[in-house]
Amino acid sequence: MVLTIMENIRKIRVSLKSRATFEGAGVRLKRAFGYADPSLDPFLLLDDFHSDDPNDYIKGFPWHPHRGIETITYMLHGNVEHGDSLGNGGVIHAGDVQWMTAGSGIIHQEMPKKDQNDTLLWGFQLWANLPASHKMMEPRYRDLKNDEIPEVSLNDDSVKVKIICGEIKGTMGPVQDIITEPEYLDVTISPNSEFIHHIKDGHNAFAYTIEGEGFFDDTKTELIRKETLVIFREGDAVKISTENDEVRFLLVSGKPLKEPVAWRGPIVMNTEEELSIAFNEYQNGTFIKHG
Ligand code: FE
Repeated sequence: MVLTIMENIRKIRVSLKSRATFEGAGVRLKRAFGYADPSLDPFLLLDDFHSDDPNDYIKGFPWHPHRGIETITYMLHGNVEHGDSLGNGGVIHAGDVQWMTAGSGIIHQEMPKKDQNDTLLWGFQLWANLPASHKMMEPRYRDLKNDEIPEVSLNDDSVKVKIICGEIKGTMGPVQDIITEPEYLDVTISPNSEFIHHIKDGHNAFAYTIEGEGFFDDTKTELIRKETLVIFREGDAVKISTENDEVRFLLVSGKPLKEPVAWRGPIVMNTEEELSIAFNEYQNGTFIKHG
């Protein structure tokens, strides 16, 4: 007797091209999403920075506060200088990740830097919401260098996965102990190959395509091209497959918070009152609670 375990492959709920927008002091970027949606919960925003024209990014993101969220910056190319009001600082280089838990509050700036010979800046910033119980937690940083992020090869090297957060076949990503149990993978699939990956029951999942093209469910009705957000439905696993081209994408999943969202700019709380308190504190200089 042959016992076949059929995985329930998640279908595509919706696919959306990212949209050009301006942020910070005038940074031209593409936004994959930037809204609270039950099918993306606990994630709030994903921005894609990709330009070789310094005018698109050099003005950067000068001093601004965050509270109630985590911001996760992943650079593929170029450098971003980071500094906060407590004196923490450093440079996020190509391949590095900064997983910043703003918690009760940080005031920081994020400034892309141009190289003299190489002006390409390419990276992503993801925002993950914090639950009410952790919105006012002590801020923390996890600065991960390129060589601290493991890459695993699967299916005879046809699939390569960089594990920023999560686990594949016993290899754990360096970011652990995050409340919403997120998974953050950078996946590349060779032509004529496939990748099936289990997603925890009840967790939301999305992909964002970086390069190439592929099919993001088993119906193969829609060829997804680059710079596209794919939001998945419920199910046990995702299945991504390719034909003539390879595809590279971010695959992100997490446990939904299912809490009310009160969001203004860089601060995300549960109620309007908490937002007012946060902005008043920022005005009168009492915003920073830890440090
Ligand atoms: Fe910021």
